[in-house]
Amino acid sequence: MSDCRVLVQILKRCTTSWDSKTVAKTHARVIVLGYATYPSLAASLISTYAHCHQPHKAHHVFSRVMNLFNMNLVIENLVKSGECDIAKKMFDKTPVRDVVTWNTIIGGYVKNSRFLDALSFFRGMMNAKVEPDGFTFASVVTGCARLGSFCNAEWVHCLMVEKRVELNYILSAALVDMYAKCGRIDVSKQVFESVVRDHVSVWNAMINGLAVHGLALDATAVFSRMELENVLPDSVTFVGILKACSHCGLVVVGREYFEMMQNRFLIRPQLEHYGTMVDLLGRAGHLEDAYSMVKAMSVEPDVVIWRSLLSACRIHGKKELGELAIANISRLESGDFVLLSNMYCSFKNWHGAERVRQRMKKGGVRKKRGKSWIEFGNSIHQFNAADQSHAEMKAIYRVLEGLMQRAKLEGFTPLTDLVLMDVSEEEKEENLSFHSEKLALAYSVLKSSPGTKIMISKNLRICQDCHNWIKIVSRILNREIIVRDRIRFHQFEGGFCSCGDYW
Ligand SMILES: [Zn+2]
Ligand SMILES: [Zn+2]
Repeated sequence: MSDCRVLVQILKRCTTSWDSKTVAKTHARVIVLGYATYPSLAASLISTYAHCHQPHKAHHVFSRVMNLFNMNLVIENLVKSGECDIAKKMFDKTPVRDVVTWNTIIGGYVKNSRFLDALSFFRGMMNAKVEPDGFTFASVVTGCARLGSFCNAEWVHCLMVEKRVELNYILSAALVDMYAKCGRIDVSKQVFESVVRDHVSVWNAMINGLAVHGLALDATAVFSRMELENVLPDSVTFVGILKACSHCGLVVVGREYFEMMQNRFLIRPQLEHYGTMVDLLGRAGHLEDAYSMVKAMSVEPDVVIWRSLLSACRIHGKKELGELAIANISRLESGDFVLLSNMYCSFKNWHGAERVRQRMKKGGVRKKRGKSWIEFGNSIHQFNAADQSHAEMKAIYRVLEGLMQRAKLEGFTPLTDLVLMDVSEEEKEENLSFHSEKLALAYSVLKSSPGTKIMISKNLRICQDCHNWIKIVSRILNREIIVRDRIRFHQFEGGFCSCGDYW
């Protein structure tokens, strides 16, 4: 077996070095050692040949795989290592496909965050008249949840009812989670009330859903019901409850649950619990307490914890503690650079910001790009920051311009501090104006009829500038606007947001 692993390692190296001689030699070695039918090695060979621009050889290896069982395993190995496109090519070459083949490709695409593709495979499966099972639906429901696509969510759920799919706790929890993530906490609650609730996962999905909607009191009420229905909370339950408290700034309640978790349920806090507590305390302005918690942790604080602390320092202008957090971040990722840079910018320390920018440039770290998407007319429209690629871009920018002017008349001032670097005020404002959620909102306004609800999903946290602006737009247009960001839902109506400006 160790031979096998060595061969996989060699092949992996060849995918970047494009050393076709070594690939050929290794391939020969695989055959000599009798490993040619091993799915993991076949997958490695296929992926290496594909990367070395030898697709015919990749296909040849696949065609030698004995049976459907092993072909499925090869595809599974490919998607597991993130090679979705190569997996798809092999999938297309599979002469017969059973439910496992479809499940492998659909599940693999969902795991690699390719949700739209996963859904189109699922449609292909329906067209091919292959009967989906519980595993298929578990993947598809997860995909709909991550997309936040209510239309698809409803369709998939209807199919499940139609096909009389029996709900186990995994599917029940996935459905509760799906509707919550699609912005429909009402339907999520209905599903929760209608299913068997003897497994903690179902409760965790409900509590987490309520947490991202900022409904902390409902989350704690559900927690209390667990005892009545004889379900023991686990460590995930407490992550949800603490998150709910954190989103609403419920410091005292959060502390109580944190104590209860350890003393009554004997659950040792893990990184995620500490992280949420640091976030809760920090954002509420209890920075010393947050720092004490970090120091008293029974496990080594990770980069997420320091980042929470740093982020709180930025909000509350605590420069020294912020620098200390930075010093402690050993694995510097792009997010930390951006935070640090933003922190310097908000203290108007342009020199510090420049230093960080140079480091980012040198290290090749780029800011993660913001993207937002909306569902309209049965398809999903995606926007990147300062996007120019959409077919109706001109009209979108015109609407955006108009909304910007009207918002300014209503007293809106762009928060220019949030933009990296000391560029001229006007330029800064321009950068902010084209954040992806603003483009998505302008497109929704352009396309939908007045008065209808608008729902936008975003991959990052919404910035303060967009938040302020959307509040005002919701009042100007007299429309309900919902934004699902990386952390939670914001429901804008009549100039206010459901998060109460606390997120
Ligand atoms: Zn923004
Ligand atoms: Zn909000």
